[in-house]
Amino acid sequence: MKSFRLTEKEMVSLAKKYPTPFVVVSLEQVAYNYRFMREHMPMVNVFYAMKANPSQKILDTMVELGASFDTASAGEIETLHQMGVPGERMIYANPVKTIGGLKTASQCGVRKFIFDDASEIAKMAEHVPGAEVLVRIRVKNAKALVDLNAKFGADPSEAVELLSMAKKAGLSPVGIAFHVGSQSLSSEAYIEALLLTRRLFDEAEKAGMHLTMLDIGGGFPIPGEDGTDPHAGDIMDAVARQLERLFSGVSIWSEPGRFICGTAVNLVTSVIGEKVRNGQQWYVLDEGLYGTFSGAMYDHWKFEICSFNKGEAQKTTLLGPSCDSIDFVKRDVMLPRHSIGDLMLIPNCGSYTTASATTFNGFAFAQTVYREDEPEIFAIGMEPVRKHLAYA
Ligand SMILES: *Cc1c(COP(=O)(O)O)cnc(C)c1O
Repeated sequence: MKSFRLTEKEMVSLAKKYPTPFVVVSLEQVAYNYRFMREHMPMVNVFYAMKANPSQKILDTMVELGASFDTASAGEIETLHQMGVPGERMIYANPVKTIGGLKTASQCGVRKFIFDDASEIAKMAEHVPGAEVLVRIRVKNAKALVDLNAKFGADPSEAVELLSMAKKAGLSPVGIAFHVGSQSLSSEAYIEALLLTRRLFDEAEKAGMHLTMLDIGGGFPIPGEDGTDPHAGDIMDAVARQLERLFSGVSIWSEPGRFICGTAVNLVTSVIGEKVRNGQQWYVLDEGLYGTFSGAMYDHWKFEICSFNKGEAQKTTLLGPSCDSIDFVKRDVMLPRHSIGDLMLIPNCGSYTTASATTFNGFAFAQTVYREDEPEIFAIGMEPVRKHLAYA
């Protein structure tokens, strides 16, 4: 699949206009990724997991495309509410919710909630009585970059019992949710989870609960540091085949984060210093681990580093600008020679990057530039992203 990548000419033109570091967002790529998912899994509604990248124009684009949203906090629900997104277009997917979050959800008309423990039931019954609830189960996946099943998910053997406890408390038990882990490189974990979930749907039916909703989580992958395509389309096709076979008539949604925004953003950063240590070339960049590269810490992400400089590549280490010695962006990356002021390009850095950046040590956030706002730099055949009007 295609991903947004600046050419050298575009990067240089932008760097004349904006001081580095800056990130360039392609809203067209965001729309492409959304449509890609809908085409490969037509039966799956998209609830964008906004924690991956809550940039305003990305949210606006998702609203205009007709997407719904996965939220985890009062703040995320309020942001969407203020944009005019109705509560039916949100799910409160954090298995453990704050009382403030539940109150906000109630005020904003959010009706769908996920839980993974009996202790959450009384909270939901009190603050959002009668709400539709899905139980999140723990699933296995050795092929995911980020394991989301260590912290989250009930044991599948307890799922039906949890749903019937919710029912007794006056909530409406409607379905099951799972998340195979982020950046899942194969379809196996999804398929295994779907087979397991089908058995739980049948078990629930026997227990007198007719389940109507299935949440297959996120996890769909984007290209990693070597830039190779992980074939997310094939994974989606395999998932769609099982959904058709096992869950016809069920309302299904996915909560993609990384897949929607990961490939839509490039970072441009400059070399601000250099040194030789242990015989190796080191460069200090104007963006580091406390900024857009925060994903290296929190998301275990290995960033692809591109340079347009010519010359023989040699083992190089890249550091961030802060005065913390943890601020190593990347060690032993093969790069040609650079001088102070030279630019580097980091593609595929739209997810879990700017969202977790800080201004530690007084370094400002990388400025966000939108490709669609730069018609003189990008020859834009303005594909109408704004096909759907905002919820009126
Ligand atoms: C983070 C998260 C997602 C998004 O996962 P990706 O792997 O980025 O697609 C979806 N659902 C829940 C509940 C999450 O916590």
